Amino acid sequence: MTRLVRIALIVVAAAACSPAGPRGAAANDAGPGSNGMMDGAGYTVTVRDLGDGRFGVDYLLADAQSALIFSRSSGDYRVGAWSPVGSGVQLERLHGFDALLFDAPRTEFSLIVEPRFVSPQGDYSPYVGFSDGSLAIYTGQFEVLAVADTGSIAALDGNLGAWQGEQYTMGVRILSDRRMVFDGEIVDGSVEHTARGNGAFVYLGDGEITARRSYVGVLDRGLPTWVLEAMDDDMESIFETYETRWQHPLEERAVLYFAYGGDEQGGYSNKGSVIDRSILMSSSGQAMSEPSPDLRTYLRWFFAHEVAHQFQNLRGQGSGTIGESWIHEGGANTMATGLVAQMLGEAGPDYLSATYAREYAQCLPVLAAGPLETAHLRDQSGGFYACGALIGLVIDAATPDGDIYTVWLAMQALSEQRDEQRSRALFFEAAGQAGVDADLIAHLDRLIDGGADDPAAQLRRAMDMAGLAAEFDDNNQLITLQQP
Ligand SMILES: [Zn+2]
Repeated sequence: MTRLVRIALIVVAAAACSPAGPRGAAANDAGPGSNGMMDGAGYTVTVRDLGDGRFGVDYLLADAQSALIFSRSSGDYRVGAWSPVGSGVQLERLHGFDALLFDAPRTEFSLIVEPRFVSPQGDYSPYVGFSDGSLAIYTGQFEVLAVADTGSIAALDGNLGAWQGEQYTMGVRILSDRRMVFDGEIVDGSVEHTARGNGAFVYLGDGEITARRSYVGVLDRGLPTWVLEAMDDDMESIFETYETRWQHPLEERAVLYFAYGGDEQGGYSNKGSVIDRSILMSSSGQAMSEPSPDLRTYLRWFFAHEVAHQFQNLRGQGSGTIGESWIHEGGANTMATGLVAQMLGEAGPDYLSATYAREYAQCLPVLAAGPLETAHLRDQSGGFYACGALIGLVIDAATPDGDIYTVWLAMQALSEQRDEQRSRALFFEAAGQAGVDADLIAHLDRLIDGGADDPAAQLRRAMDMAGLAAEFDDNNQLITLQQP
């Protein structure tokens, strides 16, 4: 019995993802016999592009099962869009799960799947559509977990965490006549990878491939020209700044997908996600049709946050517990905000001040409700970003002859030397090594475990000690901030 692995998506952010996959295999072997069990997989899903917008999906299980649930069941998009082939198989929505029920235990079944371009809250989008009709498929949507019967689905009461059993490694094979892009490579015929608790994005279509020094990807050619031009100018600049700050380039190019959903809807909406070195962004809305400095600033910030993760994960043993995600999420916010402020030139200080005022307003209620390290248990995961950004800001200002990158580089080195994951202890030890005052570190540390009687005062004290000139209003809200 193993603990259920489910890599959660945090929008504008995914925690460092599954180290187990994806593995790529590119071979033009899409012929008969190519839909057998993949090596190293407990079950295999073969996804066949039918060429008419639909996919044939064939499951092959090692052991016969009588019922399955989909581990990613949010969004309720399968029923009505996925049709079982033949008799004896039903797809139903049961107690918060999409479930497959069989008349008798079986090891094989097939479905015909029509993509639904939904955007489930807190989860990866199963399909991301580009304006030329091409699409990216998220393979994590095919993961299934065995259950005994409908009674055991009811007993879960919609809580995936209550599921018990063996979570097998899933093999996914995608067969298509279209050109595919997987893991930054163009692939013809067949893409294969394995995953457990997550998946990968596989792109199908003829979208123009953009290859730059630091990234390769598909930028939707339907995107407004000003957005494409801004991406061209800004992305390399983001990578170059980080290479200087982190003192080395990425070992492999990042993989970037930027899809455009058109301008029929008002305003602006977007969804971003990251799996390993792939960054996926999907944007739409009327606000994009005219050049907008605010939107450009937002796009810069979004990509800067995601690219920061790529550098964070380059060295050392990866991230620690969920309760420690303030280290990398907050750190990415601090780095992105600093980087964008620098790109904005004269407008930088005002941007920085306004951004941290927002972080402060979002952080205080989280600290008022309890320790930062248990924010996710109170449904306040946003605190990892907002409070983490403020901790990053304080550390950045308080590091003599250095900044937040100095502390991160020291933490990565400690993580490598000791073969330990990044943790609160390692972060503060690295800060101490970088010369941050021990008293100041103690102040910050108490915000995390709830040891502070008055967290707001504690945070203000830490900002003050770091030499940050901050003004607050009568409601204890941050109004302006100046870096030393
Ligand atoms: Zn993030």
